[in-house]
Parts: sequence; C-alpha cells; structure tokens
Amino acid sequence: MPVYIVLLGPPGAGKGTQAKIISETLGLPHVSSGDIFRENLKNQTELGALAKGYMDRGELVPDDVTIAMIHDRLSREDCKKGALLDGFPRTPVQAEALDGMLAQLNGKVVAVPYISVPEEVLVDRLGGRWTCRAEGHVYHETHNPPKVPGVCDIDNSPLYQREDDKTETVKRRIGVYLEQTSPLIDYYRKQGKLIEIDGTQAIDQVTTKLLDALPRIEN
Ligand code: AMP
Repeated sequence: MPVYIVLLGPPGAGKGTQAKIISETLGLPHVSSGDIFRENLKNQTELGALAKGYMDRGELVPDDVTIAMIHDRLSREDCKKGALLDGFPRTPVQAEALDGMLAQLNGKVVAVPYISVPEEVLVDRLGGRWTCRAEGHVYHETHNPPKVPGVCDIDNSPLYQREDDKTETVKRRIGVYLEQTSPLIDYYRKQGKLIEIDGTQAIDQVTTKLLDALPRIEN
C-alpha cells in the first residue's frame, strides 16, 4: 500500500529543509507544492502565470488549481510507493481532496509531523532566508549561513531572497497560515495521526526527533 506523510507547520518552520533530508532517508519522493509553483514560474507556464500574483502577495493559490496540480504529481510513476508532502494540504478543502485522491490510489496518510515554531521566531527566520536558484536549498544569514556568502554549499548556484520572504509578505503568509491552514492541526489530531515536534531546536535535532517518531515504512 502506498504511504503518504504530510509535513505540517507554519511558513519558516523548516518543513522544506526537513523534507529534503527525510525523503532521502525514507526513500519517498519529496512533493512540495511551493517548489512546483516556483518551477512553473521559472518555466513561464500557464500555471505559473496564474499562481504568480497570489504567491507574490503571500496568499494561497485557489484550491481547485492546487488540488489538480497535486493530483497530477501524485499520479506519476515515481510516487507509486507514496510521497512526502510538504506545503500541501493547506486548507480543509485540500485535506479532504487529498483523502479522496489517496483512496483512489489505494493509499492513505499514515503520519502528520507538525513542526511547531512561535510566530516571532518565524518572522526572523523568513526575513533572513536565502534560497538557491538551482535546487531550492535554504540558508539563513545568521542561523545557517552558507560557507561562501551568496553561494549554495551543495551545488554552487547563486542564492536569492524569495519575493515572498520580504517582511510585509512574510507577515501576510503567517496570517494566512493561522487562518486557513492551522485548522488542519485538529483535523489530523482527531484522526490520531499528528506528531508534534518542537521546531525551535537545531536542524539535526529536529530530524532525529522526526525520524524517531515516524512509523516504520516498508518499501
Ligand atoms: P511555500 O514554498 O510552501 O511557502 O509556498 C509558496 C507559495 O506558493 C505560497 O505562499 C502560496 O502562494 C503557494 N502555495 C504553495 N502551496 C500551496 C497550497 N497547498 N495551496 C495554495 N497555495 C499554495
């Protein structure tokens, strides 16, 4: 049976960083809705053009568009054993659509690690965040700087500040999270799938806690 893990948490909690590490450990593809939207922006697709305004303002792309995009991604061959979802679902409508999609694929969400971080820490983290052009590896000016300023340690590509990591937009994104995404904490808690992890710890400590808490996955 294909298994799906949903990473939940506010923007800046470290979901992307953790997802990159644990998807390799678990052998599950990392499916990040934000990365797919950014890829579409870069390639100037119709979907990218549609998503751009919402992303620049720090708002959510409409549910129907996002759900169709994830449905397409999860239906591909590399996801036949499941996936690690990062940034999706972000609304109750998306969460219900995901359950429907996975039932069709004979799979289900097996665990939902929720990386919790207080709001004031998020503003600081996102404001100092730099992202690599090639693969989206992330750094922080003070907490996790690259070895050479402005250059990715892993693939040497230049680092840039995402448009939506600028202060005003960061505040809007946190507001959107609290209003539209945080109800999912209860949604998954009621299903007994929520695993709460303190996201203020060092990156490797969060990884260890996450891996320890996840159920064993046979692939
Ligand atoms: P992220 O990299 O996950 O912070 O996503 C960047 C932006 O992409 C968000 O601020 C939204 O505009 C859009 N986005 C990503 N995932 C979703 C989603 N599940 N639903 C709606 N919009 C999304």
